[in-house]
Amino acid sequence: MMVPKILILGAGYGGLMTMVHLQRELSYNEAEITLVNKHDYHYITTHLHEPAAGTAHHERIKIDIKELIDEKKVNFIEGIVKEIKPDQNLVLLEDGQELSYDYLVIALGSEPETFGIKGLREHALSIRNIDSVRMIKEHIEYMFSKYNNEPDCEECLTFVVGGAGFTGIEFVGELADRIPALCEEFDVDPGKVKIINIEASPSALPGFDQELVRYAIDLLEKKGVTFLVNTAIKECTDQGVILANGDEIKAGTVIWTGGVRGNSLIETSGFETKRGRAKVDDFLRPPGHENIFIIGDCSLIFNEEGRPYPPTAQIATQQGENCGKNLTAQIRGGKLIPFIPHIRGTVASLGRGEAVGVVGKRKLFGFTAYVMKKVIDHRYLYMIGGIPLVLKKGKF
Ligand code: FAD
Repeated sequence: MMVPKILILGAGYGGLMTMVHLQRELSYNEAEITLVNKHDYHYITTHLHEPAAGTAHHERIKIDIKELIDEKKVNFIEGIVKEIKPDQNLVLLEDGQELSYDYLVIALGSEPETFGIKGLREHALSIRNIDSVRMIKEHIEYMFSKYNNEPDCEECLTFVVGGAGFTGIEFVGELADRIPALCEEFDVDPGKVKIINIEASPSALPGFDQELVRYAIDLLEKKGVTFLVNTAIKECTDQGVILANGDEIKAGTVIWTGGVRGNSLIETSGFETKRGRAKVDDFLRPPGHENIFIIGDCSLIFNEEGRPYPPTAQIATQQGENCGKNLTAQIRGGKLIPFIPHIRGTVASLGRGEAVGVVGKRKLFGFTAYVMKKVIDHRYLYMIGGIPLVLKKGKF
């Protein structure tokens, strides 16, 4: 008897969780499972702001995929997906491989959303993956050394961060922590360094509880961050940014954290999308494709008020688990379970030993929130790799 082929694209939060569930639940002869990912490692995206600022080494947040896989059950391919052909049940990789499937899971994550702002793609850096954060760290250090050689270059020490959502706030918290060490290393007056966080919405951390936002802003301002809220960026140039009111901020570094859209392969594969994210049914399947599941940042799901849920690791992980259960059910002839997100809470780091967040109905501030963030991180490591991974990659 032919065993069904399950193909999982992407080993981020969603894809990995699907794989972990399937390899735990299915026996060797129930399915042929293949996982494809651009790199041979998974990275903890929710911590990318740390190596970006240089407060942690990038190796710390990398996990070798082979360590998580039972190679007797899952075939791993390091490769880049070039094209998805849903009508032919086929996926093409950049190296020319053609992969056929009976069931497909698309978990290819996101890309920066530029909202059509001129020059952002060309001149701004973004916190996306290990390679991009290595470049940000090196660029920051280069700007310090450039200033030492060109003392008139005040913009060398101006760091603009576009977007004061989760990623922007977490990054400026880390960067502010790194500045004293950089100033000492490069013998630069800390008073010359400017970190400017620009947000188009009326408040930083849009949608977050106002008391928590106030705590975050007060703390980050004390660390030296300047916030410009209600301020839209009109253009990004090789000199810095131009604001909607026409003012220019000269900066040697612009980092864009203003939003994400689904991986462009979703659109180019012909799925119905909004901001690059595929519309899916209650079981996370795009309309008309009962053998395809689209999860994580690639999918669009709505809350009870009809508003889209923001893309988060929390939702991607839960979707991965749901998808794993539904694939198991489909193979064994069981009943599919609709996906219902359980939002347990959200915690944003503000740098060393500090965070803000809500868990259940409880607001958390400072060190308590920071400890909660560690608990969330360790729980995720435990889910994908058990105690050995917590001991290896956990931060205590
Ligand atoms: P990802 O985890 O991005 O995984 C996608 C995978 O697909 C990657 O391994 C990628 O290499 C691979 N891939 C992409 N394209 C291809 C291709 N063409 N071929 C092969 N492989 C490919 N969320 C929270 O819930 N809490 C937080 O505190 C939080 N903090 C964040 C902080 C930062 C700095 C950032 C950037 C994000 C944060 N998020 C947070 C959001 C969260 O990280 C994402 O929502 C989550 O990673 C989405 O999971 P995913 O599986 O959809 O995609």
